[in-house]
Amino acid sequence: MAYIEPAPIKDHENPFESMMSRFIIAAEKLGLEDEVYNVLKSPDKQVLVSLPITMDNGSIQVFEGYRVIHSNILGPSKGGVRYDMDVNLDEVKALAAWMTWKCAVVDIPYGGAKGGIKCDPRKMSAGEIERLTRAYTTAMAEVFGPDRDIPAPDMGTGPREMAWMMDEYSRNHGMTVNAVVTGKPITLGGSLGRAEATGRGVMISCLSAMEKLQINPYNSIIAVQGFGNVGSFAALLLQERGAKVVAISDISGSYYNENGINIQEAIDYRDNNERTLEGFEGATKMEDAEELLFLDVDVLIPAAKEDVITPKNADRIQARLIVEGANGPTMAAADEIINKKGIMVVPDILANAGGVTVSYFEWVQNRLGYKWTRERVNRRADRTIRAAFENVYNKHNRYNVPMRIAAYIVAISKINKAYKYRGGY
Ligand code: GLU
Repeated sequence: MAYIEPAPIKDHENPFESMMSRFIIAAEKLGLEDEVYNVLKSPDKQVLVSLPITMDNGSIQVFEGYRVIHSNILGPSKGGVRYDMDVNLDEVKALAAWMTWKCAVVDIPYGGAKGGIKCDPRKMSAGEIERLTRAYTTAMAEVFGPDRDIPAPDMGTGPREMAWMMDEYSRNHGMTVNAVVTGKPITLGGSLGRAEATGRGVMISCLSAMEKLQINPYNSIIAVQGFGNVGSFAALLLQERGAKVVAISDISGSYYNENGINIQEAIDYRDNNERTLEGFEGATKMEDAEELLFLDVDVLIPAAKEDVITPKNADRIQARLIVEGANGPTMAAADEIINKKGIMVVPDILANAGGVTVSYFEWVQNRLGYKWTRERVNRRADRTIRAAFENVYNKHNRYNVPMRIAAYIVAISKINKAYKYRGGY
């Protein structure tokens, strides 16, 4: 096969190339034809818009907004919108492709997309964020749609922004269209269980992997990097199932307590302290925040950002199991080091797929005009993640490849089949 090799791996990987280098390994294992490889390696659509916004001081600032549709082979495209200063086209492209693989791994009828606005929401007022969100939604009026492309929250966005998106899209269409976005507030058609869904999926995939590795959750020691929506719920839910969470972190630093941190206390502290753990007294602040990754724990859960496990630091990881709460926390160049050390990795496209799974349930409920109970949502989501884990685990044994490549194999073979049925020009 005439695959184009990705560029040589540097200190900071281009996220799209990093994603493609795993795709290539899986595609080769599957013997995927060049034809399908070529379709999947280029996103369907890339939209870049300039958004002039009147700031509170009267000045006009122009923001860059992106939406990349990677694929709609399996259905309408689905994926979050990120508000962060690091947003750029390559990152959004990689994140969009990850959404395609993620939806295929958990077997929900969606393609993949991702959006983003390069901004620092922490330095903006609610009014400024609202105007920016509405301008972005209107700029994407022809891209979004309940049967076309369905945004959701991601880093820097949540139910509040989703409500503005839903409202703006609905105004543009002259009717309420709540299925156009997921992760909405419950009163606007949001689903019970959506807020904690990604963290819950991390917990379920962590417990499934622990079972395979014969780690008893009651004797397990865990470190969680990142204390946003994913990391904090994953830590809380794992603690409720007996695990001892000895370290947590956020942008203010890493916090360690060898006797275990009371996660509910940490969450309450964060919520009453401008959303940071700074000054949290239930643990000691570590001198070097990065050291959290190298603690002597059973499980490491990177739930912050991309590229935190690198070829430079991978060798220092002591955990037996890594469960990727974030998207892309391990650089492709670090995969081999991790594999050689015999560490099992539950990859992002499986471990954090609980969020989009419950997004799918939210969309289904909106279209039915009906509400499910929290129990029903959780039960179905848990079942979905467990089944996906087993499927990936079987492929990992059958093809004798790491779990990450096995997850790509599951995703790519499914999309390949659907593509063959649908056909092209
Ligand atoms: N942003 C989340 C993710 O990366 C959720 C996407 C969604 O619910 O559509 O999976």
